[in-house]
Amino acid sequence: MKAIRIQEFGPPEVMRIEDVALPVPSADQILIDIKAVGVNPVDTYIRAGLYGSRKFPYTSGIDAAGVVRQVGEAVGHVAVGQRIFISGSVSGTYAEQCLCHGMQVHSLPDNISFSQGAALGVPYGTAYRALFQRVHAAAGQMAFIHGASGGVGLAAVQFAKAAGLKIIATAGTEQGRQLLLEQGADLVLDHHVPGHFDKVLDFTDGQGVDILLEMLANVNLGKDLTVMAKKGQVVIIGSRGPVQIDPRDIMSREISILGTMSSLASEAEKTQAYKAIETGLTDGTLCPVIAQELPLSEAAKAHHAIMESAHCGKIVLIP
Ligand code: NAP
Repeated sequence: MKAIRIQEFGPPEVMRIEDVALPVPSADQILIDIKAVGVNPVDTYIRAGLYGSRKFPYTSGIDAAGVVRQVGEAVGHVAVGQRIFISGSVSGTYAEQCLCHGMQVHSLPDNISFSQGAALGVPYGTAYRALFQRVHAAAGQMAFIHGASGGVGLAAVQFAKAAGLKIIATAGTEQGRQLLLEQGADLVLDHHVPGHFDKVLDFTDGQGVDILLEMLANVNLGKDLTVMAKKGQVVIIGSRGPVQIDPRDIMSREISILGTMSSLASEAEKTQAYKAIETGLTDGTLCPVIAQELPLSEAAKAHHAIMESAHCGKIVLIP
């Protein structure tokens, strides 16, 4: 089978497509024929060597969707031929096939394409965790999704909309802002325009927002704190460096700043998130948006694209 292999940390070009042996599942494993691979920013951080050591060579990738090809005898909940999506694997998802443990494999409804299925695991798991496990988002609250045109942000808009929150959402392009309006955001702003924070205060009659999900805290956190309601909660999802804040902004309105890391979810929390994702896919409130499909061999191009921003939705590789 073909797989994207990494022999050393470095720029996107260290990813090479190679022929490797088809893996054989043990009793508690599942072999998947991959139809689409979700590209996440974390794949690029791992490839660049920012997330600790790896045993080389390795195959990149966390998210994918496909069809079950072979099932170990101890696995009960999936059948050969079943459409599934995965988040996490034993052998890496940038490949034509991959091995998974049973708990990494989830049923994919017929109304969701394989590319959309590949957009679920990390983005929707993270958005759910931020909104409903790190804070307890509830109908009527005002949520500010700061960086809403990407994989996690769009998932958060859809979850928040379904839960009855009011939504302020940002994108850096006209196309992204149009998409966010179509997704049901109540106010859409451009995060590259410095004055957008004033518009958040105007829209909330000076009260500020109850919940803020931040995709680029190193740029925005200091100003984020100035648009929070009393006892408002900021959840940091993404950050690419240090940032200066004024702690008086936190004190004066008793703001909470929380971080989230999807990999720290417990098994019970993951089960809760996947149940919510399944419910949303089935009732139509969740529907992943695909920005671009590229062949698996163009994984390096996908890594450049995801770090350059300005894509609306998810970048997907097709084996
Ligand atoms: P993505 O698809 O590449 O989206 C990136 C988003 O950031 C886009 O909406 C982009 O908007 C927006 N953005 C760009 N400049 C911004 C600015 N100045 N202020 C606010 N937003 C800005 O990535 P993703 O998968 O959604 O992930 C978003 C971030 O969360 C990444 O940093 C990722 O590493 C992180 N993340 C963390 C976890 C976790 O567990 N903590 C899990 C998943 C992802 P435009 O392109 O429209 O400008």
